[in-house]
Amino acid sequence: MLKNRRSRLKRFFAEYSLKAVLFTDLRNIRYLTGFSGSEAALLISQDHTWFLCDSRYTAQAAEEIQNAEIMECGAVRSDTIVALANEYGLDRIGFEATHTTVSAYRRMSEKLNGFELVDLGSDLDEIRCCKDLSEIELLTSVATLSSLALTSVLAEIKPGVCEVDIALALELEIRRRGADGKAFDFIVASGERGAMPHGRASDKIIQSGELVTIDFGALRDGYHSDETVTVSCGKPELRAQEIHSIVRTAHDLAIQAVRPGISCKDLDEVARSFIRDKGFGDYFGHGLGHGIGLEIHEAPTLSPRSAAVLEEGMVITIEPGIYIPGFGGVRIEDTVVVTGAGCHVITSADKQLLVL
Ligand code: ZN
Ligand code: ZN
Repeated sequence: MLKNRRSRLKRFFAEYSLKAVLFTDLRNIRYLTGFSGSEAALLISQDHTWFLCDSRYTAQAAEEIQNAEIMECGAVRSDTIVALANEYGLDRIGFEATHTTVSAYRRMSEKLNGFELVDLGSDLDEIRCCKDLSEIELLTSVATLSSLALTSVLAEIKPGVCEVDIALALELEIRRRGADGKAFDFIVASGERGAMPHGRASDKIIQSGELVTIDFGALRDGYHSDETVTVSCGKPELRAQEIHSIVRTAHDLAIQAVRPGISCKDLDEVARSFIRDKGFGDYFGHGLGHGIGLEIHEAPTLSPRSAAVLEEGMVITIEPGIYIPGFGGVRIEDTVVVTGAGCHVITSADKQLLVL
């Protein structure tokens, strides 16, 4: 499995005439080796893999990693990289520019004086785009866990409860059901606060008749889930019902349009044009969705500017919304796996306008 993942690097060696690729991003390192610790580097040549860590992680690495030479580095890891580059003639090394700080790059360039460091830009992000079966299993199980947790917490939404109490109850339930933690700080935005697409749970008290948007997810074995529901606390106003129904239809239309070969830009337009035609085009300011996996937001991006095209095995979110300042907002989000024929939705909380 992991060997297959590493073989995805082949095209980079050819395209960029590389002798090796250096990884320092822990998500990429986990993807390529299975290592789950918090500090490491990985150097991969055409026929060799070196895993570099400090003494805290040598034993863990030996347990988790196969088919790599585990090297314990001293205080300066780059000295080991320079020594390897010299010994094996690795004179052109690609690196993850999008995950490297300017100061780390400067340090590395000084050390590797005489070697070429090749900026791979965001191209390397592609290696994790299409999930393999084991990843789809992990993503499905964390999504299921998280959806069930929400379902059992919904009853706690009532007038007089504050947003942060809902977020805490949900986090507790997610942990109780076996998650390692939450995928991100939950959004619980009620009433007018719903107009903020990223309104984190506050101490605001939820009132009767208000919409409540809950964007939540769990983290397990390195993989994230992401889902959003907008429910009503008591009977919603007609305008709220109308907006919810528009967002729900935009969401459903986009999910029906998911298939290999559709561009992420065109998919975004499916939901966006529907919302625009209903007169709310100015109130949907963010992209339709994003890839999800070892990161909560990863490639591909679904937006009017995206150049990506969907492929079987990609796992993406579909999350249209309408946000009206002074009134509130609605977002509905599901996570789906792109299949050969269309897609399979792995999040399962009810997306109707629930009146609680
Ligand atoms: Zn979300
Ligand atoms: Zn999302």
